[in-house]
Amino acid sequence: MWQAEVRVDLDAIRHNVAVLGAGTGAEVMAVVKGDGYGHGAVPAALAALDGGATWLGVCTLDEALQLREAGITVPVLSWLLAPGLPLQRAIAADVDLSASTTELLDEIVRATAEAGRAARVHLKIDTGLARGGASAEDWPALCVAAAKAAATGDIELVGVWSHFVYADVPDHPTIDRQLAAFRAALTVAENHEINPRVRHIANSAATLTRPDAHFDLVRPGIAVYGLSPVAGRADNFGLRRAMTVRARVLHAKRVAAGQGVSYGHTYTTSGATTLALVPLGYADGVPRAASNLAPVRLAGANRAIAGRVCMDQFVIDCGDDPVAAGDVAVLFGNGDDGAPTADDWAEAVGTINYEIVTRMGSARVPRVYDGERTTA
Ligand SMILES: *Cc1c(COP(=O)(O)O)cnc(C)c1O
Repeated sequence: MWQAEVRVDLDAIRHNVAVLGAGTGAEVMAVVKGDGYGHGAVPAALAALDGGATWLGVCTLDEALQLREAGITVPVLSWLLAPGLPLQRAIAADVDLSASTTELLDEIVRATAEAGRAARVHLKIDTGLARGGASAEDWPALCVAAAKAAATGDIELVGVWSHFVYADVPDHPTIDRQLAAFRAALTVAENHEINPRVRHIANSAATLTRPDAHFDLVRPGIAVYGLSPVAGRADNFGLRRAMTVRARVLHAKRVAAGQGVSYGHTYTTSGATTLALVPLGYADGVPRAASNLAPVRLAGANRAIAGRVCMDQFVIDCGDDPVAAGDVAVLFGNGDDGAPTADDWAEAVGTINYEIVTRMGSARVPRVYDGERTTA
């Protein structure tokens, strides 16, 4: 018997990657950072590889090493590296590293000596996001340093890449500007004898809506998990939402009209009613901001959470509908059964579907996998 669980449909992940792959001639890098957007990095990665992905993308070194420890051998790119990390471990594990600065490139070169092999490097250009990546001014110097390190055999120049500002609005003017800046940076790189095997800039949104941005490799994340990066798409691009979060009602009880509910009594019953207690809270990733707002499916209807979300639990007002301890409350799922989706939660809470799924789960809530499970 279970109390609360995060269910992940691996067949949906497989299907979604196949959909993404069918829409491009480029290779697919499934992004599994953030513990696979909350779905579990290793099972999600394996399902994505089954679906046709040939690369995996993560942020941190530890995320990359976790994939290697699971026996996954495909190329893995790690792109968020603080100074002073044990890069030799990544190089020894054949993890591709992103470099935006000559300082990091120098660190990578020094680490190759200890690793005893060349490092696989992707140079990152900032085309307008103003997050990571070399500025256009610093790009030529980075290219010079990288070409030199490649000539001495310290690094293998695998990729040149960038990231979009606003791809979730498919005709946003920043997209064409960034593509022009990316092409200019590629020309500068070529002038320094840098001819990367993979040029890549497309996230999920650009993978789904901008074939002119696919280059050699696309890097979808959210779409792998079946969620649309573009708001208001009724067809969901043919993707299937992979995560369902649900819990069993612990206790249902009748209360009178005018009863305040949960901390601070921010909700008051309008008539005699049945309250159902659901054992999930903000310690499990349910946003406290969902208090009085987010919908939950219970006893045949979608109902807003009544009162504050607590650390471990929240309450639903079920009126006179029959509800009993043990009934299943669905916070969100694939949307097929009338239950809310992560998109509904994002809208209710004022955030994006990415945050809803990524934050969900805790050590006390098991992740349960449906669908065919593969091993490395
Ligand atoms: C997270 C991330 C992605 C995937 O973005 P989605 O919008 O989830 O498809 C791709 N590239 C980089 C650099 C990222 O950080």
